[in-house]
Amino acid sequence: MARYIDAVCRLCRREGMKLYLKGDRCFKESCSFETRKGKVPGQHGAAKTKKPTGYSLQLREKQKVKRIYGVLEKQFRLYFAKADARKGVTGHNLLSFLESRLDNVVYRLGFAPSRTAARQMVMHGHVMVNSKRVDVPSFQVKPGLAVELGNKAKNNETVKANLEVAAGRGIPKWLSLDPTAFKGQVLANPTREDITLEINEQLIVELYSK
Ligand code: SF4
Repeated sequence: MARYIDAVCRLCRREGMKLYLKGDRCFKESCSFETRKGKVPGQHGAAKTKKPTGYSLQLREKQKVKRIYGVLEKQFRLYFAKADARKGVTGHNLLSFLESRLDNVVYRLGFAPSRTAARQMVMHGHVMVNSKRVDVPSFQVKPGLAVELGNKAKNNETVKANLEVAAGRGIPKWLSLDPTAFKGQVLANPTREDITLEINEQLIVELYSK
């Protein structure tokens, strides 16, 4: 499976906002978006700050969302096609599909400090959905499903610390969590209002509708 292996902090500086890709470090002073504020990565970074065109704004928005959720181009296009085919607002459907990924849910429940770490937990078989092991990060959760950690992960001190840190972040209202059982429940499909990230999904719809 293809994946991005370069330094992820570059991505935040490239997109001009914090994408929270590194867990705890993103909330510390050492966050490189803060320490190197305004610096676009790359040898010619400064030259890249020219006035953006309509197309470049659409492209950047798409790249930003892909990077937040850790999805590569081919899979992102598939999400878009599914979102477009579903009833309702395409942009909202797209975000709902991305938000319903199992790795995102593991992150949102606070079991992992970042989506990348959450994906690793899923792929290593530490996550159960309705008591069955699921090791596919893109698995789509649905209302009524229970997402729970396996016994090994439940006894892991790092996971316990992650939960404590995440308690301050809060759980979205479409999910519920029983922290003592390391178990979450999907209460509803995520709506646009549930996704508080700074995203202009309409730009992505315009880009793919050309
Ligand atoms: Fe982005 Fe986090 Fe790196 Fe800061 S520490 S630049 S928010 S990934």
